[in-house]
Amino acid sequence: MRFVCDTMLGKLAKWLRILGYDTYYQSYYPAGALDQSVMEGRRLLTRRRETAVRYADALLINADRVGKQIIELKEKAPLKPLPAKWFTRCLVCNTLLEKVEKEKARENVPEYVFYQDVSGIRVCPSCGRYYWQGSHRKRMRAQLEAWGFIGKQLTPL
Ligand SMILES: [Zn+2]
Repeated sequence: MRFVCDTMLGKLAKWLRILGYDTYYQSYYPAGALDQSVMEGRRLLTRRRETAVRYADALLINADRVGKQIIELKEKAPLKPLPAKWFTRCLVCNTLLEKVEKEKARENVPEYVFYQDVSGIRVCPSCGRYYWQGSHRKRMRAQLEAWGFIGKQLTPL
């Protein structure tokens, strides 16, 4: 299941990426860009009724807060994310993360991260951001579990 989120659903897009879903999102879409995404097989998520009715498979999201949007989508889509896919995408540009050479990692992450968990470090090949296991990710995981996603097993990162 791949998604495209309208301009009002930026936070939802980020959480879908955290869950591992291929999710296209821009804060601005030029004319025809949504059509293009839907033609590529993405399911449109939108908060605008007039947009939703233009696409056969679009999902209208009624909730205005991201937590409720996730719950709504979980029921409507329905979302069944694989825990092994969690935290495998760049949250900013949606690209799949890659492993990184030790020397590269050393130059680009805090020292304590390098010494604690060098094998867990990933890089986005598109925008160059680095990702690692840390307190931020623990909080995100706790949030996902609070929303009812089961992720007790360790990710392969
Ligand atoms: Zn990126």
